[in-house]
Amino acid sequence: MKLLFIGPPGAGKGTQAARVAETLGIPHISTGDMFRHHVITGTDLGLRVDAIMKAGEYVPDEITVEMLEERISLPDAGAGFILDGFPRTAGQVEALDRLIGTDGLDRVVVLEVDEDALVERLLARGRADDTEETVRNRFKVYQEQTAPLLDVYGRRGLLAHVDGIGTMDEITDRILAALENR
Ligand code: AMP
Repeated sequence: MKLLFIGPPGAGKGTQAARVAETLGIPHISTGDMFRHHVITGTDLGLRVDAIMKAGEYVPDEITVEMLEERISLPDAGAGFILDGFPRTAGQVEALDRLIGTDGLDRVVVLEVDEDALVERLLARGRADDTEETVRNRFKVYQEQTAPLLDVYGRRGLLAHVDGIGTMDEITDRILAALENR
């Protein structure tokens, strides 16, 4: 099963993607986690993306796509995966289409959370790249670049909208129910 998780920053998609991936026995692939790992371990790639991430901007597509392509070519991704935080731009959608085909995805899970709840959650999370300015900029970038991707996947009939307000278990159950419902 090949799935995408999409939602504004702080919607809890990373946590839910990890839980659902474990339930389904497929890897959870988060480009944000991968970039953070590069930054923490001080690789060349980490040095290139550090300032971009701190500013809440997107890492250029060519860098992101290359990293993602390597990851999904590993054997553990052969039976499927959950992509979390990728694709985020029209260029990344095209790249993913090239990598797995336009009919490669089974479902696109969209986590929906009210914007005020999101700002609160993000500031409470206390991550290094979570200043209020960064949070605001990430919203703007999400609205401008990522929200339009939903139109593409909507036209393909792949969207599963899930209410992202509730306990972790409730939300996981909603997602699993939505995935069965096809
Ligand atoms: P995330 O943990 O998914 O919110 O990602 C944290 C940061 O990593 C983002 O604000 C971007 O700077 C960068 N990033 C993660 N995934 C992507 C992507 N698909 N395209 C561009 N930048 C990304």
